[in-house]
Amino acid sequence: TALAGLDRVVTGCRACPRLVEWREETARTKRRAYQDWNYWARPIPGFGPPDAPLVLVGLAPAAHGANRTGRIFTGDPSGDLLYAALYELGLANRPESVRYGDGLELHGVRITDPVRCVPPDNRPTTEERDTCRPWITRELELLRPTVRTVVALGGFAWQALLPALTAAGWLVPRPRPAFGHAAHLTLPAADGGPALRLYGCYHVSPRNTNTGRLTTEMLRALLRTAATSAGL
Ligand code: SF4
Repeated sequence: TALAGLDRVVTGCRACPRLVEWREETARTKRRAYQDWNYWARPIPGFGPPDAPLVLVGLAPAAHGANRTGRIFTGDPSGDLLYAALYELGLANRPESVRYGDGLELHGVRITDPVRCVPPDNRPTTEERDTCRPWITRELELLRPTVRTVVALGGFAWQALLPALTAAGWLVPRPRPAFGHAAHLTLPAADGGPALRLYGCYHVSPRNTNTGRLTTEMLRALLRTAATSAGL
């Protein structure tokens, strides 16, 4: 499919010098527990079927998570929580994502990031975010025939998504709506096609989950609502 082609091409991107250096540096230094891993150390493509009605959008890969395994949200605590929740809701065939070849399949859900390379301190610059935008914009364009609901995991995803959604053909109101957990709105399609439902959800990072800002129940409830709105 065209989306599979995009997933292949993005892995060769070297547009952000600082991030190229950092993704390779973390692969060289490694974490002690992963010394025997050959880190992926390249951009992370989206994961999930090309005809997904539901799309989840995070921030960027983790140094020893997706930057190591090559699959989005895979190999770190954030991903463990997210995939477990998807499994509980019947949207994944396994409760955990380990690495390519583990047999994990998502049902009707695609997961992607607005920044595809690991940034130092998990903080991409504004310039890096904007440089990476064409990748997620293209992905959303290719998903347009089927996507009905998008969940922004965190304020960064929300802010990065709004211009990408506009570029991909949906009408975002002005002033731009603010992010919040369970914030939601409907974006009409510019060409009169199906509208898109957008939800905000606190990011599944340990910073939020360890402090109780985001509980497993809150995550499950939000994802259930989003899945229902996507017709899943
Ligand atoms: Fe390319 Fe995006 Fe990685 Fe920058 S962050 S190098 S634009 S894939």
